[in-house]
Amino acid sequence: MKTGAKCRFCGKPILWIRMKSGAAAPCDPEPVRFRRGAGGDLMLVTRDGEVVRGKASTPGNSTGEGFTSHFATCMKTTAGAAKQPSAAQTRMEV
Ligand SMILES: [Zn+2]
Repeated sequence: MKTGAKCRFCGKPILWIRMKSGAAAPCDPEPVRFRRGAGGDLMLVTRDGEVVRGKASTPGNSTGEGFTSHFATCMKTTAGAAKQPSAAQTRMEV
């Protein structure tokens, strides 16, 4: 897991998490507490690089912490992706 990286599009800090597949996913660095479960509306990446689905929860009933993909929150990436759909992911570099 790399720290100190910034999104080249919006300049926000991002956290690179190595996925189980071997690819690195840029995520927002703030951990999100969630309760794991099918049907949840959150798609998160755990510190171990596992993609999980769940619902936002309070610390009292959460099953873990995950990170939101920065692709979901970066406005500039979304704008760029509309113009260049194939280049959006590969250009997301540190
Ligand atoms: Zn961004």
